[in-house]
Amino acid sequence: MTNALALIGLTPDGTVPPAAAALLAGAARLGTPVAVVVTGGALDEPTISALGASGARQVLHYTADDLAESLLTPVVDALAAAVESAQPSAVLLENVIDGREVAGRLAVRLGSGMVVDIVDIRDQDGLPVATTSVLGGAYTVESVTDGGPLIATVRQGAIEGTAAAVTAEVISAALPPSAMPSAVVESSNDAQVTSGRPELRAATRVVSGGRGLQSKENFVLVEQLADALGAAVGASRAAVDAGYVPQSAQVGQTGVTVSPQLYVALGISGAIQHRAGMQTAKTIVAINRDPDAPIFDIADFGIVGDVFTVVPQIIEKIGTA
Ligand code: FAD
Repeated sequence: MTNALALIGLTPDGTVPPAAAALLAGAARLGTPVAVVVTGGALDEPTISALGASGARQVLHYTADDLAESLLTPVVDALAAAVESAQPSAVLLENVIDGREVAGRLAVRLGSGMVVDIVDIRDQDGLPVATTSVLGGAYTVESVTDGGPLIATVRQGAIEGTAAAVTAEVISAALPPSAMPSAVVESSNDAQVTSGRPELRAATRVVSGGRGLQSKENFVLVEQLADALGAAVGASRAAVDAGYVPQSAQVGQTGVTVSPQLYVALGISGAIQHRAGMQTAKTIVAINRDPDAPIFDIADFGIVGDVFTVVPQIIEKIGTA
């Protein structure tokens, strides 16, 4: 059986992120799921167990002394080495900025094909077939590569299911210093809004607000419902442009793409550019006072009503449930 690699980026505190399960589930559809992990030091037992619990039969663990200051070069080096040793049919990465950059660099290095933001993957007679959703979700496209492994970044939340839990075998190797050294001069995450809420892209529940909230002060209603549901906060571009929330919360064509189990749209009309970022959500709930709002065309549950009347009632019900 062929191997399929999943690049697992550990969290800053060294734990396995929730996204790992989906990447390994995607890999398991294609062959033997193999996790590739790059760190500056040793891998601890809980991390190895967690990778096995997510389905990694093998963990190819690469250590790089210069990881902290070399940006993504060691990760590309590690994946290139992993491809050479495992001969996989595919390499799956998270569809985040770093994942796309590593995928692009790896594809160039291997002379292989790359597909970004895939929403599904399957095996067809030993060939990985990746599905993407294009033109605002109006079409789906299936892609294969004909030279080297398929390199694909996977939209968060898009691949369902989990690979069977196993005991992972770990193979460790040290990477030589990067051939293309680069240095981190300064690092800042000031732009990142910190909150106790889940990260938008990876959240299983998202509550988004639009221009219908009418002001930054009123937008707190979106946050209150999000907190009641344990959800991340999103927004339409109109809400971002009006200054209700930072741009990092924008969902849509020019914002973040999400694929949660539950997406609640409050006072959002459902323009095609907004839908492009959320219509693969498993269950969509819309609250809008306009019965003809296009968001109702894709909603599984719709409430025609005023958000300022309906949402406090929902929060109260959740609180007493
Ligand atoms: P509106 O369209 O103004 O809708 C507000 C809705 O709130 C209405 O349906 C109204 O009935 C309802 N409402 C008002 N008051 C209440 C109330 N009290 N209770 C209940 N409902 C109420 N948009 C995005 O979201 N994301 C993107 O990434 C994005 N990218 C774009 C890229 C391009 C190139 C372009 C041209 C546009 C893009 N847009 C994007 C903008 C998009 O076209 C829409 O303008 C935007 O999504 C509208 O946001 P909205 O639904 O909040 O506002």
